[in-house]
Amino acid sequence: MRLSRYFLPIIKETPSEAAIASHRLMLRAGMIRQAQAGIYSWLPMGFKVLRRLENIVHEEQIRAGHHPMLMPTLQSADLWRESGRYEAYGEEMLRITDRHGRDMLYGPTNEELITDIFKNAVGSYKDLPMTLYHIQWKFRDEVRPRFGVMRGREFFMKDGYNFDIDEDAARHAYNRHMVSYIRTYERMGLKAIPMRADSGPIGGDNTHEFLVLADTGESEVFYDSNILDLHLGDREVDYDNWDGVKAICDEWTTPYARTDETHDAAIWADVPADRQQVSRAIEVGQIFYFGTKYSDALGALVDDGKGARKAVHMGSHGIGVSRLIGAIIEAFHDDKGIIWPEAVTPFHAGIVNLKQGDTDTDATCDQLYQGLIKAGLDPLYDDRDERAGGKFATMDLIGLPWRITVGPRGLKNGVVELTSRKTGESEEMSPQAAIARITEIYAQV
Ligand code: ATP
Ligand code: MG
Repeated sequence: MRLSRYFLPIIKETPSEAAIASHRLMLRAGMIRQAQAGIYSWLPMGFKVLRRLENIVHEEQIRAGHHPMLMPTLQSADLWRESGRYEAYGEEMLRITDRHGRDMLYGPTNEELITDIFKNAVGSYKDLPMTLYHIQWKFRDEVRPRFGVMRGREFFMKDGYNFDIDEDAARHAYNRHMVSYIRTYERMGLKAIPMRADSGPIGGDNTHEFLVLADTGESEVFYDSNILDLHLGDREVDYDNWDGVKAICDEWTTPYARTDETHDAAIWADVPADRQQVSRAIEVGQIFYFGTKYSDALGALVDDGKGARKAVHMGSHGIGVSRLIGAIIEAFHDDKGIIWPEAVTPFHAGIVNLKQGDTDTDATCDQLYQGLIKAGLDPLYDDRDERAGGKFATMDLIGLPWRITVGPRGLKNGVVELTSRKTGESEEMSPQAAIARITEIYAQV
């Protein structure tokens, strides 16, 4: 993309309404604009990051054997009356009446709808196990929307639902989700720790939240620092191997890690004092096993192959896709701006032309731009007629991991400068070498 043709409305001043870095930087970098309290428009660059996260989530869910689909945002109130949650959900639910006087709602989650779809289509144990998910906008009328996309009213969430014949199979589905989530967050460059959590109004007795450590997080967490050393990396995972998947979960759930709601001082006391960590953290996902709560309420039964009809065992599993962008920026920024991990950056590299209109610098920038595109990458070329200082400040603010600077002085020696946003270190090399280096870096992401 050529910056002169792009829509990147950067704000120089610090927006006064933003209390935390990620909110400030998303506004300043032209990623989002507030439409109403807790409701945002995603401008082109913000939307690109959202899509990148969405793709990672899809890839890891599909790898785990889960099926993508799409359910509507608007749901009928009747299904929620059947489960008893239409009243129970309270004021967070946005209720709407259509022209015929029918009660509808903007979905805050989808247990009812998916269970209804399932029960009308599946009648036999032979169709199990089955996990369906979608990535769709949700609405919760939060009392205090704040921190930008971190606690919005409208937000983008992956929610998945497993249907299994019995508790053992559903526990495997739970474990499968835990492992696929660990891999998902790792791929985004984040350390999200699964922590024992409170099941809240959704019911059930088995749940973990995934938390990213950050001073600005809304949760208080207690954990054994040993958990920070765990990495899934590119380990082969066979998602059909119950014991193999459970072994990975055991690895992650053995060190103490709990939110304040489930914190247990007696067990905590057994963690060696030098490993006890207390911190703030951001909830970026949660997995639940809740048994037959919704299948009982909505009549989702299958024949079990032995002549009986049984309610299916279910769980639901969510990832806060839009919140994750805030969490990533909280984890990766400095006083100049965002520092994107390579896996989620909106553009792979920025090209800065220090002397727009100069025959040589223009030609070299074009060569870099076309070369990176040919290599399958997505560069952002700052081809505006602006001072170098302004161009650098823009690149630092929007946080692309790599910047190539092209100026007349370097070109005399046939070199451009490749700079890492993370370390600030620069290296001179030929334009071809810069393209090769960046291509190689992204081949490993
Ligand atoms: P919270 O405790 O933060 O209100 P929750 O536990 O009610 O969240 P879940 O129902 O577990 O949320 O939803 C799954 C994920 O969706 C959460 O882990 C979180 O990352 C994200 N999420 C929930 N509420 C919001 C919101 N208001 N804005 C942005 N993301 C949200
Ligand atoms: Mg939650």
